[in-house]
Amino acid sequence: MSDIFDPIPIENKYTSGVYYKRDVAIVRGKGTKVWDSHGKEYIDCVAGQGVANLGHCHPRVVSAINEQSQKLLTCTEIFFNDTRARLLEKLAGVLPSGLNKVYLCNSGAESVEAAIKFARLATGKKEIIATMRGFHGRTMGALSATWEKRYRQPFFPLIPEVQHVPYDKIEKITTAISENTAAVLVEVVQGEGGVRPGSREYLSHLRQLCDEKGCLLIFDEVQTGFGRTGQWFACQHHGISPDILTMGKAIAGGVPMGAVAMGERVVNLKPGTHGSTFGGNPLACAASLAALGAYEDENLIRRSLELGEYAREKIKNINHRFIREVRGLGLMIGIELKTKATPYLRALMQHGVLALPAGPTVLRLLPPLIISKEELDQVVSVIEKVLNEEKN
Ligand code: PMP
Repeated sequence: MSDIFDPIPIENKYTSGVYYKRDVAIVRGKGTKVWDSHGKEYIDCVAGQGVANLGHCHPRVVSAINEQSQKLLTCTEIFFNDTRARLLEKLAGVLPSGLNKVYLCNSGAESVEAAIKFARLATGKKEIIATMRGFHGRTMGALSATWEKRYRQPFFPLIPEVQHVPYDKIEKITTAISENTAAVLVEVVQGEGGVRPGSREYLSHLRQLCDEKGCLLIFDEVQTGFGRTGQWFACQHHGISPDILTMGKAIAGGVPMGAVAMGERVVNLKPGTHGSTFGGNPLACAASLAALGAYEDENLIRRSLELGEYAREKIKNINHRFIREVRGLGLMIGIELKTKATPYLRALMQHGVLALPAGPTVLRLLPPLIISKEELDQVVSVIEKVLNEEKN
């Protein structure tokens, strides 16, 4: 065993310490599977926290990266670029209706950060309304909109003009929006907050309220975008378009990238108001262009919808006394337990399934959209097995 390189002690020595680490080193991935440094295989329902919607190392993305890397790796947005132009055109073709301008950046938090700035610029107003259990990232602006207090409190003062209201509660949002509201920022399905889909009634009411009060509606689709919920974007299930849409995670098939799409109300974006050195770099654009092509050609959006339904039904049929509720949309799956989720996550890992938490009691599955029915059956049977082992 001495010839196996063990990254764990070295990472432990040098890493910042800001992550809850699991005691395993993932060194290789292909499709729905990853392997650890000892060669153990896992079905990956973490998927890089919802990044690997295409699975790991999708051949089309890999070859686009290879090709672009021979041609041009970096190109600041002060210049135009062929790959970027192709990506923008392709992305525009799948965005919810009315969104036709795009700002490219490098992560989900950056896209939220930009969205908040753009909303303020466009409206001349300051206040942002976000939601309880909402998660929008860890940079100062995005963090201000994130709900979980233990994430925010050590960093006060954050943006003071952010108000958190209960999610999916129409009355609360109605009273919260004022003349000073620049934007309402919500996830169409709350991810980190427990996999909670917003109702159509709530989302369409939000749209109507924002129109009436002259503020902007921002949908954070960093986690729900690119087929995760069975549509390109979750808001398309309801036919409701925001003024600003934030994207990240699965946008570029595994390469870091974020984006903000905007409608016609988002005005005043003049040169110098925002920017990013790496934003719109050709490498990420090439990966994203290939990824969008693969989602489309492999019918992965529809597949996510169908397989998500299939998996949720199977999980409901487990009918275990520790399961409180099974929620989600497409292949974004939440299993709310009546007990803490962490011991089950550990047990799942021992049995070769990687899954995520979403709050203290929710098991979250974000499998690659290419997952097979047989693999989903396997995941469900492992879940059943570990529930029956009755940890806690
Ligand atoms: N918004 C949502 C809805 C998210 O789920 C996340 C990440 N979990 C973010 C924003 C932040 O994205 P990133 O980690 O890429 O900054």
